[in-house]
Amino acid sequence: EAKSSGQGGVVAFSESLGNERRNRMALENELRDAIREKQFTLFYQPIFALGKSQSAGGLRGFEALIRWNHPDRGLLEPGRFMPAAEAGGLIVFIGDWVLRQACNAMARLHADLTAHGLKASELPYISINIAPQQFLQPTFSSHVQRVLLETGVPPELVRLEVTEGVAIIDPDQTRQVLEQVRCWGVKTSLDDFGTGYSSLSYLQNLPFDTLKIDRSFIASMDDPKSRKIIRAILDLASNLNLSVVAEGIETVEQGASLREMGCEFGQGYHLGRPLDEASAFALVWPEAAPPRK
Ligand code: C2E
Ligand code: MG
Ligand code: MG
Ligand code: MG
Repeated sequence: EAKSSGQGGVVAFSESLGNERRNRMALENELRDAIREKQFTLFYQPIFALGKSQSAGGLRGFEALIRWNHPDRGLLEPGRFMPAAEAGGLIVFIGDWVLRQACNAMARLHADLTAHGLKASELPYISINIAPQQFLQPTFSSHVQRVLLETGVPPELVRLEVTEGVAIIDPDQTRQVLEQVRCWGVKTSLDDFGTGYSSLSYLQNLPFDTLKIDRSFIASMDDPKSRKIIRAILDLASNLNLSVVAEGIETVEQGASLREMGCEFGQGYHLGRPLDEASAFALVWPEAAPPRK
């Protein structure tokens, strides 16, 4: 056993694991601490109706995006740690926290607005990313129902975003979960559309409300081929009665072209970056209460 041969033995043993694997294991341990120590936080990126000016009621929703407030490395974006969380199965715990945190935040905003006589019907929705592993848990839909009840967030203000990865893993379960959460009034989005396999049969067979065009198509919009693909996606979505959100709008020109093509909704750095809760909710109502910790 490595330990009994002294420190040198431990090092040799560790080296035999390979750097990558050792790093991942260390990261997984840190992630466990992060859950315990409440080091995660949610940022919120606004989603706008492209036809309206931002100040004239164009704000339609927020996408909740996780960040890790790392004690030594600062604010980390999900690409730095979510792959490890998925590999180690911790994604289910982290995902539960995200769902609850986002619904709580929205319930709070809703309560603040209605208490001040503002129209809740004009509230933006909250869109929450759900990893395949989390979405395909047998208890997922009942868990969603419990969180809705416990937080008191109006279900029609909640959207769940999944990628087609769920359908590739288990199309039948995906369909069932989508139908269940829709029964409770929650809407669903197919995220990153156009990447991966994008089998059109998913669109035909799965009850999504919204399709999010992956930002790779928006980034390459100067290329006429990309614009043709975007047009085709918009056409398809319109025929299937799906609403469309374009992701990753970084320039005025991209926003204008998308609007011209009839794309109804968009998000991206040009329209608004992901913001902390207080800054994001101030877009809805400047006097919204700061988050209660
Ligand atoms: P996503 O769901 O496609 O989220 C959109 C990502 O694009 C976000 O990156 C956002 O910050 C970024 N983005 C938005 N506008 C622009 C733009 O104009 N230009 C560019 N270059 N990027 C833009 P982020 O926050 O780093 O998240 C990356 C991915 O991590 C997300 O992609 C999602 O797949 C995953 N993720 C984030 N939060 C969660 C979460 O709470 N749970 C799960 N399961 N996954 C999450
Ligand atoms: Mg997303
Ligand atoms: Mg996306
Ligand atoms: Mg993405």
